[in-house]
Amino acid sequence: MATKRLPPKLLQNLRCIVRPLNSSSSTSSYSAVSPLTLTDKPEPTTVETVSTITRPPPILDLSDPQKLFATLPTSRLLHASLNLHLASIEPMVDFGLWVMNSRLMEVGIMRDVVLAIIRRTFYEHFCGGEDIKQAGKCVMRLNKAGLRGMLDFAVEFSRDNDACDRNLEGFLEAVEAAESLPRSSVSFVAVKVTAICPLNLLEQLSNLLRWQQKDPSFNLPWKHDTFPIFADSSPLYHTLKEPEPLTPQAEHDLQLGMQRLWKICQRCLEANVPLAIDAEHTSIQPAIDYFAYTSAIQYNKDDNPIVYATIQAYLKDAKDRLLLVTKAADKMGVPMGFKLVRGAYMSSESKLASSLGYESPIHNDIRQTHDCYNDCASFMLDRIANGSDGAVLATHNIESGRLAATKAHDLGIGKINQKLEFAQLYGMSEALSFALTNAGLDVSKYLPYGPIDTVLPYLLRRAEENRGLLSASSLDKELIRKELKRRLKAAA
Ligand SMILES: Cc1cc2nc3c(=O)[nH]c(=O)nc-3n(C[C@H](O)[C@H](O)[C@H](O)COP(=O)(O)OP(=O)(O)OC[C@H]3O[C@@H](n4cnc5c(N)ncnc54)[C@H](O)[C@@H]3O)c2cc1C
Repeated sequence: MATKRLPPKLLQNLRCIVRPLNSSSSTSSYSAVSPLTLTDKPEPTTVETVSTITRPPPILDLSDPQKLFATLPTSRLLHASLNLHLASIEPMVDFGLWVMNSRLMEVGIMRDVVLAIIRRTFYEHFCGGEDIKQAGKCVMRLNKAGLRGMLDFAVEFSRDNDACDRNLEGFLEAVEAAESLPRSSVSFVAVKVTAICPLNLLEQLSNLLRWQQKDPSFNLPWKHDTFPIFADSSPLYHTLKEPEPLTPQAEHDLQLGMQRLWKICQRCLEANVPLAIDAEHTSIQPAIDYFAYTSAIQYNKDDNPIVYATIQAYLKDAKDRLLLVTKAADKMGVPMGFKLVRGAYMSSESKLASSLGYESPIHNDIRQTHDCYNDCASFMLDRIANGSDGAVLATHNIESGRLAATKAHDLGIGKINQKLEFAQLYGMSEALSFALTNAGLDVSKYLPYGPIDTVLPYLLRRAEENRGLLSASSLDKELIRKELKRRLKAAA
């Protein structure tokens, strides 16, 4: 039998990539390469040649950094390498988080120094720029590298109508920009409902919707047609007593909030750019889903889903709700779009539930979250193949990307279909993004932009997500380092 020596790292990747395709067993996003096995010159191992292995070629190939990063300039790789390295030094991230949350940020000069450091490091790494103009340029750079942009005007929650009106202008500006940029360069505009409807009103609405779920005779006169917001498995512990009805003023504010979202939807429809509505905390998610579903019923026509709701797979009721919504949408003949994520608010969800004496709404372990994500993704892919639904599979998890890419390939879903988008956050999982593009799939980077002050909460979440050696960025760090070494050697 012919034999050939392959490095163990490549072997490990191959094993991961050629694992049986129906296996849903995933580890985390850094599973393809364990950071604990990093060595520059591994001991050679004797194995069968690739040519003697009778398995199909891998759909996702993460083994060749030169191929993966072929479209990225060395300056971007150097910048990424430095930032990912900084993010892996836990004490440094802890210190940075402490400073950003401390009263030092109230001292003028101190604040300026901290913001200047953040701007040159994490901000430039994770954000598309201060305004839509800079974000547009960033989209064009991404497009040159074979990727697309999801424009995210990064404002967090608003407390009053004036702030919501200002934010509305920002979102409309994003749609204008998406329309003016080359069609293939922007895949979506993203919106947070908390930025266009006051937070306390969303809390009130969620309480009222939950109470109606407990007591179907509970009348909500302002309620439009919607898809199911809860499943039998959905937790209702946030609302323990019957809420007060909306006052005329609150009903008016609700109307204003809805109209803001519908204005954005209408512009998206005219520009033919889909809108992804982000998911947030469970305390307000029922109201966000209500906004998303009423808008989908109005704007998703024929086989063109303009409004995409978000499903968070870390929630125990995620799959049940997904099934109920799709069933209801089918009945009404509405094509549905979903963005599928695992979820970004794990610690606050668990804390809130336990403070109220209830079980966390989040799966008991990460394995169940992975299974739920892969299961929902598989369901969405079947629907794309069989009908007019659309899906954004938003993940940095290589196993989830591999499973979904393989299934999309088997179902014949690719770029031509245009109903499937893979997405990663800008500055994260470059290797996965490029491996997916190389596999012939559409891939976007979720691109937050805005002044550094307003983007800080987003940056804090990213710092948390990327902290430590075992973070989602470990594979990127290793592959980028290898490619930089190769380019340096080639230049020498
Ligand atoms: C394009 C894009 C859009 C996004 N939009 C949203 C959005 O609208 N709303 C939102 O909430 N998030 C959003 N996110 C963020 C996303 O939820 C996080 O990036 C994501 O949780 C990281 O998961 P991953 O799929 O990359 O997988 P991994 O990194 O493999 O998984 C980590 C995730 O698993 C879950 N998890 C970890 N430990 C456990 C445990 N012990 N038990 C159960 N579950 C566990 C958590 O959700 C954790 O974040 C978005 C991300 C992208 C890429």
